[in-house]
Amino acid sequence: MAETKSTCPYCGVGCGVVIEHEDGQITGVRGDPDHPANFGRLCTKGSNLHLTATPVVIQHQRLRQPQKRATRSARPEVVSWDQANREIADRLLAIRAAHGPESIGVYISGQLLTEDYHAFNKLARAVIGTPHIDSNSRLCMSSAVVGYKQSLGADAPPCSYEDIELADCVLVSGANPAWAHPILFRRLEAARAAKTGHKLIVIDPRRTETAELADLHLQLRPGTDVALCHGLLHAVIWQGWTAPGFIAESTEGFDELKELVRDWTPARAAQVCGLDEADIWRAAEWFATSPSSLSLYCQGLNQSSSGTAKNTALINLHLATGQIGKPGAGPFSLTGQPNAMGGRESGGMATLLPGHRDPGRPEDWAEVATLWNVPDLPDRRGHTAVEMFEAAARGSIRALWIVCTNPAQSMPDQAVVRRALDRCELVILQEAFAHTATAKYADYLLPAATWGEKEGTVTNSERRISRVRPAVPPAGEARADWRIARDIAALIDAGLGRPPRLAAATPEALWLEHRAATRGRDLDITGLSWAKLDADGPQQWPFVNAATPRLYTDGRFATADGRARFVAKPYQPPAEEPSPGLPFALTTGRLRDQWHGMSRSGSVPGLFAHEGRPAVRMHPANAARRKLAEGELVTVRSRRGELVLPLKLDENLPPAGADIAMHWGDEFIGAQDGINAVTQGAFCPDSKQPELKFSAVAIEPAALP
Ligand code: SF4
Repeated sequence: MAETKSTCPYCGVGCGVVIEHEDGQITGVRGDPDHPANFGRLCTKGSNLHLTATPVVIQHQRLRQPQKRATRSARPEVVSWDQANREIADRLLAIRAAHGPESIGVYISGQLLTEDYHAFNKLARAVIGTPHIDSNSRLCMSSAVVGYKQSLGADAPPCSYEDIELADCVLVSGANPAWAHPILFRRLEAARAAKTGHKLIVIDPRRTETAELADLHLQLRPGTDVALCHGLLHAVIWQGWTAPGFIAESTEGFDELKELVRDWTPARAAQVCGLDEADIWRAAEWFATSPSSLSLYCQGLNQSSSGTAKNTALINLHLATGQIGKPGAGPFSLTGQPNAMGGRESGGMATLLPGHRDPGRPEDWAEVATLWNVPDLPDRRGHTAVEMFEAAARGSIRALWIVCTNPAQSMPDQAVVRRALDRCELVILQEAFAHTATAKYADYLLPAATWGEKEGTVTNSERRISRVRPAVPPAGEARADWRIARDIAALIDAGLGRPPRLAAATPEALWLEHRAATRGRDLDITGLSWAKLDADGPQQWPFVNAATPRLYTDGRFATADGRARFVAKPYQPPAEEPSPGLPFALTTGRLRDQWHGMSRSGSVPGLFAHEGRPAVRMHPANAARRKLAEGELVTVRSRRGELVLPLKLDENLPPAGADIAMHWGDEFIGAQDGINAVTQGAFCPDSKQPELKFSAVAIEPAALP
């Protein structure tokens, strides 16, 4: 038996794994004791990874050969790689010639490795010439990106996981690490057990397993996070718990923010948020007066039409109290996907260019055009995820290349997404798994290598770059994602009569191109190499001469003048509010043992032991008022669509709340469109992240035939 060290492909904690394998087959997995994210531990998902790569799963679940559909209603037929690549290149060239490069969109994934991201970014922008490349990371962390940039000057989480152990007070807001980041939750539990006087505050409309551990659970009304942060800041200012020296030396804009929160007394915030005023005073005191306060936050803040405002309001609290740039302190955004961070770094998103550059800034554009030697690089931001599918539904995007993601399940407002996929002249789906909802719309299905078969790097939530290594060959004829991009790019470039613009022949060569784009930037990794990563293990960026565990320790930030910015954004209610006809606020979220659309985790029967089937949850008091009973089939109806699901009663939800796990697609929910039939496409104006955490719905007895 052989062993290969790699990284878990599920969440942004980025745990190290040791893959056990024999005769080209993965036989086991265990935590890597040397990896600083997990020190040998794995959660349920990670410890079952080997069961997603058994011969039975490979035989029945994996896409193993390129396939083509003659028509959308036809069964896909196996074709050779040569035929698939040639036909795809020809059809993309024809659409490009007839309608321009901007008629082509590329939608990629936070599951990809940094090298894949770099390859697809070049394929879209440099080879096809379209600015319309975005990632499903748009759905999980783009509000955190913009929040950091507006407040601190750069998209860089300033903390390390070790700050969880060092903090005296931890504020968890809009996150349930007990389920979504389990290894970090174990670290938090251990830190609390080891530290006398430790304080844990959890802000969440649901009483989650994380909230169960808290000293103080602020169970606010869904969508009112900004009002709560303003109330907390009012209390901090009123009591004189600010850090005046830090504010004067290291920040700008405090007076304007003070003016904004003047009216946000804790009494008013308590009324808007549905909280006890005394709890707001208590939380403000703990956060401001503890020697070190850390906040951990995720989708509850990000997936909102006020996502950026929620992020900046929380960062304001850190700046006002000086809880940043020191051990155990800082605003720490947790990433959902294994390489959402790598996508941000390599600029594989509509609003970014490599090295945290902005396509809309002429000097940033010029630097990348020079680095890539591509003078006709698109010089503007492209369509973000929701915008891209809306454009396809309108007909201005005519071809979509979708890579390792499942928009026909995961995107909000499925009616629009499915209209877009139906209308496109060409849909290319590059996937490891054969049976996703999006596969039904694909003209070409390209088999992608996946975890255990791929080589490259990923970056976790604490800016730590880890190596991903192959233990076994790809299933069937599957190929690495970067290679699929490169081969078709070469045919497109040949068709346009120019030398290849995406020529790198190995993942390491792609990584070196990516590294060159970080020189002199806030994420500079020019002192790092794969040899260093292999010799010394995972490292945190920036890495010029050494790794950087913590940012802004000198009170200087990444803005032009070195001062952080207080961002004064007013509280806005969610994009649609409950009404008499649609009285419930529906949230969507994760289960402990499942991942995204279950294409990988759904292949392990044991992972259904925790939660075996989809359901809509509501508070028993509301169910009783509507004469609804546990297990009864109910219709969940929004302005966009409806679902029929069994009802589960859950005292941990707020009275007017409802909740459905995000994982269930139409293969689990009969002939319907999955849970996103009812969610909305409204998004934050700054980050373009959609409001997956709030949809106004009615829940009524199902009218069955
Ligand atoms: Fe994998 Fe996340 Fe679990 Fe770690 S915590 S084993 S990265 S799913």
